[in-house]
Amino acid sequence: AEQTSEKLVELAKRRGYFFQSSGAYGGVGGFYSFGPQGAALKGNVEDAWRDRFAVQEGNMEIDAPTIMPEPVFEASGHLDGFDDMLVECPDCGESHRADHVVEDNTDYEDAESLPIPEVEEVIAEHELVCPSCGAGLAGQAVEAFNLMFETNIGPGDSDPGYLRPETAQGIFVEFPRLKEYARNQLPFGVTQIGRAYRNEISPRRSIIRTREFTQAELEYFVDPEEDEPDLESVEDVEVTLYPASEQNSEDGGELEITIGEAVDEGIIANEWVAYYLGVAKPWYGAVGVDMDRFRFRQHLSGERAHYAADCWDAESEIDGNWIELAGFAYRSDYDLSKHDEYSDDRFTIFKQYDEPKTVERATVDPDMSYLGPEFGGAAGDVVDELETLAERDRSAFEGDVVEIELEDESETHEIPVEKTGFSVDEETIAGEHIVPHVVEPSFGVDRLVYTVLHHAYREDEVDGEERTYLELEPEVAPTFVGVFPLQNDDDLEAVADDIVDDLRDAGLSVTYDDSGNIGRRYRRQDEVGTPFCVTVDYETIENEETTVTVRERDTTDQKRLPVEDLAETLAAIREG
Ligand code: ATP
Repeated sequence: AEQTSEKLVELAKRRGYFFQSSGAYGGVGGFYSFGPQGAALKGNVEDAWRDRFAVQEGNMEIDAPTIMPEPVFEASGHLDGFDDMLVECPDCGESHRADHVVEDNTDYEDAESLPIPEVEEVIAEHELVCPSCGAGLAGQAVEAFNLMFETNIGPGDSDPGYLRPETAQGIFVEFPRLKEYARNQLPFGVTQIGRAYRNEISPRRSIIRTREFTQAELEYFVDPEEDEPDLESVEDVEVTLYPASEQNSEDGGELEITIGEAVDEGIIANEWVAYYLGVAKPWYGAVGVDMDRFRFRQHLSGERAHYAADCWDAESEIDGNWIELAGFAYRSDYDLSKHDEYSDDRFTIFKQYDEPKTVERATVDPDMSYLGPEFGGAAGDVVDELETLAERDRSAFEGDVVEIELEDESETHEIPVEKTGFSVDEETIAGEHIVPHVVEPSFGVDRLVYTVLHHAYREDEVDGEERTYLELEPEVAPTFVGVFPLQNDDDLEAVADDIVDDLRDAGLSVTYDDSGNIGRRYRRQDEVGTPFCVTVDYETIENEETTVTVRERDTTDQKRLPVEDLAETLAAIREG
């Protein structure tokens, strides 16, 4: 049987949800345009996300550039490590993701975490073939392919820049400014909704894997010693979990459990991650993801970035496959520490103690005469080394001499301790600089839009005719109400026009349609998922414009409602 995905992609193109872009020039893989319905649906989903994760959580939203200079990605690690495994077919020349070829044709579920030589071995052992032409791939070299799009900033090729592969760096890199807006107080959160770019080796499944897509990310900065999430507010949320331990066991399966129980039993190790899973689940339900086809899957240890203490994905089921909608990771101080190290700015927060503390401070005296002639230009370096050593390892000063090795010099300097000016003093300090930890819920918008449409897709029969409709939630439906004059008649059209104005004044998105028979017009709105249609008929006029027919999409039930409170009634339903 034809899969829902195929029918959905066809409907999406015909009805203006999404379609491959630049079609006039043959199109190019991995780029899609959202049509009028799709753009509206996506906008509504983004608004719903903004409302839940920025407004209701009291977080700030920013809007950073999509192109950033090379040093940002040197610091973040993307330049070195944001790679996928590529294997090229010797016959047709098509490139494929080697880990996908392995996962699709063997028992390996997590080929991404295997080292390249092992992937080559698996390909040879299982005699895997090119998904495009069927030629054997055994013996082909697998290479690491960096997914970032590179560009030049300004004329010439002087300054390389990159299109951001995730929105997150735009938040991390602005941390020194953002902490000021947060008045240097932890915890605080920063959100961003925007485009991300990845030069995917094999874009596939329409908008599920593209080369330009939209993310909605939250970076929540915390003091790991002081801050705790409001777990009580989510402890009763019921979730389907697929922990790593279950994935690793032969007869393992999903668990139905509450967030509170999952934390108590240590299934979700990090409380911040648990909190955001608890916030995300009802939100996904509210925008229209079918909760029977939704779960949180824990990353296997090989899949997890080394800094991520615990990591879970939100997944939805599409035609029997689970796809990743979002990732929830506790990233510790990894990102901010990197930028603190690589840049000239400070990515720390000054944490004031409740009461000033007296501490011992070991120092050396930088004004030491012997450092002049003896060390020449390296004098400053020697002082730096001595200072670092005094801070880190006092025992180095316990003997008669201190041994110092300078970078770029093979020789070891032996400096008499009494000449270093080493001393230990007591000092009163008010606080210290700490690098905040960060918890990151990272949502993909396009995959969510796809899931919402897929889970809303329905076929039934009305009056002996097959019907296709989208059971979209009123909150996200691109068009909320269609307004039709029953026939081409000046009187009916005038009343319908007035109703359109009223409904638009009430903030509802309205489509006016006066072409074709009324049944066809209903079907058109059913197919784009419009929850209500209002028909102005002769009874409306005979009743001195008091009532209209309101038809409900899912049941096709029709009711007569007074025109007077139509806008108010419908607006209340839209608000939920
Ligand atoms: P995948 O393993 O599917 O490539 P990822 O683990 O690399 O995804 P993240 O880096 O965690 O993805 O990105 C966060 C979210 O951004 C994903 O959950 C997904 O919804 C979305 N996303 C990532 N890559 C793409 C893409 N190529 N097209 C559409 N959405 C994407």
